[in-house]
Order: sequence, then structure tokens, then C-alpha cells
Amino acid sequence: MIIVMKPQASDQSIHAVTKYIEDNGLQVHLSQGEEVTIIGIVGDKSRLSTENLIIFKDVDRIVPVTESYKLANRKFHPEATTVKVGNTSIGSGNLTIMAGPCAVETEEQLMCIARAVKAAGATILRGGAYKPRTSPYSFQGLEEEGLRYMQKAKAETGLSTICEVVSLDAIEAAVKYVDMIQIGARNMQNFILLKEAGQSGLPVLLKRGLCATVDEWLNAAEYIIAEGNPNVVLCERGIRTFETSTRNTLDLSVVPVLRTKTHLPVIVDPSHSTGSYRYVAPMAKAAVACDADGLMIEVHNDPAHALSDGPQSLTFEKFKKLTDELRPFCQLVKRSF
Ligand code: PEP
Ligand code: MN
Repeated sequence: MIIVMKPQASDQSIHAVTKYIEDNGLQVHLSQGEEVTIIGIVGDKSRLSTENLIIFKDVDRIVPVTESYKLANRKFHPEATTVKVGNTSIGSGNLTIMAGPCAVETEEQLMCIARAVKAAGATILRGGAYKPRTSPYSFQGLEEEGLRYMQKAKAETGLSTICEVVSLDAIEAAVKYVDMIQIGARNMQNFILLKEAGQSGLPVLLKRGLCATVDEWLNAAEYIIAEGNPNVVLCERGIRTFETSTRNTLDLSVVPVLRTKTHLPVIVDPSHSTGSYRYVAPMAKAAVACDADGLMIEVHNDPAHALSDGPQSLTFEKFKKLTDELRPFCQLVKRSF
């Protein structure tokens, strides 16, 4: 439930309402916009008499929130959230491009990819050091050594960095080396990991689970925010459908759907969703056209010899061509890039 205060409600009136809610054993989430203040209520509302709230001074109306996620809900927080990641930010009217290899393979490989993606306009370097592969016999990642290379790449290029985490140990290591952690599709409903990510203090990129509905996804985000970490970015990476001509089915309609339901930034991953470098550029352009806040794109110096996801990785030339072609799309949706 949210309490919408009248425009220009006084601090005293806002305080009286929040005190009443807290005195009834519930938590308050305050969203103070330029025009109106919204007071969100988190907890068991059967403990509160809503009729009484309407008689408080400067209360305009009371709106029930039926969704189980509250802190991630746009009704609780009408203004779009901007998430700071190292020396850049996601969601503030710019297009953020995260790019890099699926997996960190060697120091040299990461360094040369970092330089190339930076030159083409990426601001965040991605690179997997813990790889949750479908097969246990596939390359599993360099772990902490890979994170150290990410830190070196940041020091040299100034790019901010993101790395997927799959366990508490990985989170503890990531905190020392990178700017943002990623919860992958396969772990979207690993609730223990979500809580630990929430406690890490780092911004979190939450990928959509392979079969997750929007409500399940936003509830997963709620787990992170409920730990006191509001810095969550959602990433659509394709869902599993009956279609087999692409690796997954990119659900682009989820971008405008999420805009109505949540204030969190939304980015799109055209690499994992399509599984083929051929489809990455058109879907990246479509994602910008439907106003995504950013893109996550896999780029490799030698896709034919990549240790993971070579078929969907862009070469440096293809990545540069794509970022050049994205500029007019950004102008159309009034995003800076
Ligand atoms: C990745 O980004 O490296 C990855 C494994 O993605 P997803 O979790 O979307 O499959
Ligand atoms: Mn990959």
C-alpha cells in the first residue's frame, strides 16, 4: 500500500504519517519527488487501520499495491533509479554499453579486448571469472586470477568492471576487484545468493531466469533491495520457448513492460539471447529503439578460439561497426552515447 501525500505536504505531516506506520510495527519507504511525496508501507498491513490514515493532514489518497514486490515497484518509487557503477552510471538517460569476453581467458586476451571495447564506446568491461557452464566438462573460469586481470584492465583503461558471481566465496572475492556483480540467469532464484549480493554493497546486475516471469524476476530483485542495496539493474537475456532457431527468445516487450512496473534500469543482452553473432547487431538496435538503458555484448579477439560462447561473440570490427550504427538510434530515443 502507498500513501500519496498532497503536493507541498509539510515535513510535519509526512512525519506524522510515517510515525503512525512505524508505531504499528511496519516499515516505511519514503519517495520524495519534486512534486509529491509517496510513503510506501512494507510489512503485514493487517496490523494497520487504513481508514485512519486518510484523516491525517495532507494525505491525498491511499493506493493498494497488490504486487508482492514493494521496493522494486514503480508505485513505491515513481522516479527512475540511476545506478552508479565505478565511474559511470546506468539509467540516467545515457546508453551504457557493457562489453567483453564471455570468459576471462588470459591477461593478454582481456587487456586487448578491454582496449578495443573502450575505443568503440563501451564504459563497462564484462568478463566471466566463474563460469556456470551447462556442461561440467566445459571451461569453468579462472576464478580469483580472472578477477585480478579485470582489476588490471580497469587500472589501465579506466573502464568500470562487472563479473558474474555464483557463490558467497565469489562475492567475497569480487568485492575486492570489480565494480559490479552479476547474478546469472541460472541463479536468478538462488535466494541465498540474492541476499548475499544484497549485503555485498556492490551494485548488482540481475539477469532474467531462463523461464522466469516478470513477477518472479522483480521478486528476485526485491530480495536484493530488501537487504538494503537499492542498486539493482535488470538484464533481459532471452527466455526459453519452443523456438530453436535462436539460443533463446529475446523478449524485447519486457523493456516497456518493466518500465511500468519498476523504477530499476533495464538493459538487454543480445548475445546470450540469440546465440549467434549474426543476430546481435539487429537486436541491439531494436533494444535501443525500445529505450533500454544499456546493452551487454560479448566481444572476443578471436571468436573461433574462444573458450566459451565464441559463436555469439563479435569481433572488434563488428563491435565498432555496431556502436557506430547505434548512435542514430540513440538520437531518436534522446539518449546520450
Ligand atoms: C554471462 O553473461 O556470461 C552468462 C552466463 O549469461 P546468462 O546468465 O544470461 O546465461
Ligand atoms: Mn557467455
